[in-house]
Amino acid sequence: MHTDLVAALDIGGTKIAGALVDGDGSLLVRAQRPTPAREDAESVMGAVAAVLEELKVSPLWHGARAVGIGSAGPVDASAGTVSPVNVPGWRDFPLVERVVAETGGLPVALVGDGVAMTAAEHWLGAARGYDNALCLVVSTGVGGGLVLGGKLHRGPTGNAGHIGHISVDLDGDLCPCGARGCVERLASGPNIARRALENGWLPGPDGDATAAAVAASARLGDRAAVASFERAAQALAAGIAATATLTEIDIAVIGGGVAGAGEVLFAPLRRSLRDYATLSFVRGLTVAPAVMGTDAGLVGAAAAASSVRHEGANARAVAAP
Ligand SMILES: [Zn+2]
Repeated sequence: MHTDLVAALDIGGTKIAGALVDGDGSLLVRAQRPTPAREDAESVMGAVAAVLEELKVSPLWHGARAVGIGSAGPVDASAGTVSPVNVPGWRDFPLVERVVAETGGLPVALVGDGVAMTAAEHWLGAARGYDNALCLVVSTGVGGGLVLGGKLHRGPTGNAGHIGHISVDLDGDLCPCGARGCVERLASGPNIARRALENGWLPGPDGDATAAAVAASARLGDRAAVASFERAAQALAAGIAATATLTEIDIAVIGGGVAGAGEVLFAPLRRSLRDYATLSFVRGLTVAPAVMGTDAGLVGAAAAASSVRHEGANARAVAAP
């Protein structure tokens, strides 16, 4: 009989996934709905409620002690609200309050999706056993999270470690966030594809112009494709090196769709790190691919939930230290 479970929610722009998770990180019951990302706030909340309803009909639900939510950002864990860039109907949406209501007063923990992925990799994945780690999600955007001194470092609003929006190119291209030369502007999947196209890369006959297609061309030696990945790797390396210099991380774990490019990304990334991570205390930094795959969001949300599960009903501890 499972009596110490948590419910996990992973909220993204395309799907809302849920699970009941045990103390070993096993997903015992799953539920999923597409995100009605173009619809109004209540329609999106309806999809969250439907996922929770599906979990609640499981006999295991009675063992759930807390809820963990990993959401596309920005989130504000201190206010319990979310404003995902790709879900325009939700702006300062009081997600924590609504999930508390839907679950009969279970304590709820909210973190950004980058922090959730980091929690998952630290609990059961590539950062396991490391006390100081940076985890990155490189896909449509670039997100991340930090483990410092053996603990997940969320920050007051749950966004700490958001490496995608630190500038590595002072006078670089304008980023949608308002700054210039952000890591994301140089290293996200869409920007890898855009730069390759601008420099003469031609998609194959299937017309696929994604970063994955650029990676396939790079593997065959296409110069514009290789160069675009090298530039992305350089930006990531500069961001990782800066983080390592500030916080003395031991490992940088890289996940997300773009990490699927494998050595096309990792080889130039390790090379560039030698250029930027130069001081004695950062030279030993390890770079590793993420291993938790598509369940990272749910497993990480469950890890976040475990920080509030013992605080009792109606606790709204949303930014535990
Ligand atoms: Zn930015």
